[in-house]
Parts: sequence; C-alpha cells; structure tokens
Amino acid sequence: MKRSPLKRKKRINSISKKRRQLSNDEYRFRQAVRERDKVCAKCGMPGQSVHHIKGRSYPSLWCDPENGLFLCELPCHAFFELHPGYADAWVRKNRPEQWDYVTKHIKNRYGNEKYEAKK
Ligand SMILES: [Zn+2]
Repeated sequence: MKRSPLKRKKRINSISKKRRQLSNDEYRFRQAVRERDKVCAKCGMPGQSVHHIKGRSYPSLWCDPENGLFLCELPCHAFFELHPGYADAWVRKNRPEQWDYVTKHIKNRYGNEKYEAKK
C-alpha cells in the first residue's frame, strides 16, 4: 500500500512533538543522563524517564546532569516521586558524588535557610 503524504506528515509531527515541548537545555540534560546511566539507576531494568534529584525550587540545577537520574517509570520513578525522603536517602547512599554535588550547590547558591527548609 502506498503511504499517503498526509499520513507521513502526521507521523513526523508526532515524533517531534515531545522534542518540541522541551527547551534545548532540557533536551540535552535528558540525553546526557540517559547516556550516562543507560538503564534504571535503581533496579537495572530498561529506563524510561529522567528524575530530578532536586526539583523546580532550584532552577539552576534543572538542566544539570548531576541532578538527574535515569529511572524506569514503574515502579522506580513513581516511587521516588511519592516518597521524596526515601529518594533522597537512596541518592545519598547509592550516588554519593551526585548527592554531594547537588547539596553543595544548593548551599552555595541558595543558602542554608532554603536548603534546610526544602530538604
Ligand atoms: Zn527501576
């Protein structure tokens, strides 16, 4: 069957839709984290999504790969989002270099007060 030009156009649009929703910095951040971790950082299954160790309260970390973890969507990413205290403890234990980097950055840039308030 011959592919209609209309169908092809639609498919191209759907592929690039996700890409267009992200800024270049966010896109590069996600790519860098995926390439570094390759699989879910927690369980080793194929990864699907990039988790921010510290969220939007710290805009200067939003696109920093040191603040990212590649995770499977279920159960690991969902669990981290539901249990931020557990997620922090996991990162501190299993990714100590990333945890140190992120917490030092927050202390230096935002000060202890905000860091303490948001932990
Ligand atoms: Zn996982």
